Amino acid sequence: MIEIQTTFQRAERYIPGGVNSPVRAFQGVGGVPIFFKSAHGAYMVDEHDREYIDYVGSWGPMIAGHAHPHIVEAVSACLKKGLSFGAPSLLEIQLAEKICKLMPVIEKIRMVNSGTEAAMTAIRLARGYTKRNKIIKFAGCYHGHADALLIQAGSGALTLGVPSSAGVPESVVQDTLVAEFNRLDTVRTLFEKHKNDIAAVIVEPVAGNMNCILPLPEFLPGLRALCDQYDSLLMMDEVMTGFRVALGGAVSRFGVKPDLMILGKIIGGGMPVGALGGRADIMSCLAPLGPVYQAGTLSGNPVAMTAGLATLELIESPGFHKQLEQKTGSLMDGLKERATAAGISLQTVAIGGMFGFFFTDQENIETYADVKKCNIDRFKKFFHGMLHEGIYLAPSAYEAGFMSSAHSEIEIINTWNAAEKVFAML
Ligand SMILES: *Cc1c(COP(=O)(O)O)cnc(C)c1O
Repeated sequence: MIEIQTTFQRAERYIPGGVNSPVRAFQGVGGVPIFFKSAHGAYMVDEHDREYIDYVGSWGPMIAGHAHPHIVEAVSACLKKGLSFGAPSLLEIQLAEKICKLMPVIEKIRMVNSGTEAAMTAIRLARGYTKRNKIIKFAGCYHGHADALLIQAGSGALTLGVPSSAGVPESVVQDTLVAEFNRLDTVRTLFEKHKNDIAAVIVEPVAGNMNCILPLPEFLPGLRALCDQYDSLLMMDEVMTGFRVALGGAVSRFGVKPDLMILGKIIGGGMPVGALGGRADIMSCLAPLGPVYQAGTLSGNPVAMTAGLATLELIESPGFHKQLEQKTGSLMDGLKERATAAGISLQTVAIGGMFGFFFTDQENIETYADVKKCNIDRFKKFFHGMLHEGIYLAPSAYEAGFMSSAHSEIEIINTWNAAEKVFAML
């Protein structure tokens, strides 16, 4: 008897859920994930040689498109000189210098291996520096999967309907306070209640892990003012927005200075990377200078540093982000026009190379509660319709979409045409 096993079944046999990160599993949209074998420019190619226009971009890092020749050449040359030294190299200085120059709020920076690790370390550092324990995070914001931050978290946690994970002891999250994004009064209330116990506020300046939500004009300045008033630290998690919404990140765009910054994704150009940086006096509390411990076998390895440097070199070219934002805005405008023509209410958001769209009548999506009210069933149908047309969107209504410089007018028009077809069937 011939046993026919699908690729997904094969994956499920040895990998929990068949995936190495939950949101890849298609549980938010139904069906089984697609297995890819290569990617180039704006496209990804699946195991059956079918090409898709990709708006996931590996969840953010691929801002210059997949397998960009400049990055591939730089990494290839680097590989021949050794993969990891476990000792300092000039490449680490070069990337540190470049990031500090592009984001002047970062006076010193420490490289780690993921956004999760960076956020986890930033929390420890903020607690060590302020000698306080409590932190404030926002419902629907995601800062990786460190225990203290896995409470009302966004991204895959939202998609799977488990915003707070099992296995996180009550004692570990008792110092994590949750406020509502874009609602300063909820933050003020927490500060008034816990006054001098709050070490830091951690926020995604543009929320990108509960779809895509822009900060209201008073929100980030209000957080800065509250942190100043209560001597707490403001931590911005720009793992997603850094170098994506502008060359200088969301900080340059919104003009609010955090004390600590958390980075990842683009600064690794597709290799595993995270970083935390900020005020020199705070960063100097990290080992080996200070008492806050942190370490990493592969931190700052030459391959990741090279991929990051090559990516930043590309996006530093004049007009890069302006063009990217024009394309992202145009993609969303065209999508909305076609939805409207089909009698479907769609709200869209675009900033830099990042976008979001919501199936709802409500015009202003400002909070996690607003996102939860959107029509998820319609999103699922739209997702599968688009996939059928060869457009790969994030398989969840709670994720932002990503544009790269490799997406040209042709891909945008093809995406619109696909959407027009799919809207007609919703
Ligand atoms: C992706 C992301 C993280 C986690 O980064 P990993 O490298 O996946 O651990 C943290 N914060 C934000 C805002 C992110 O988008």
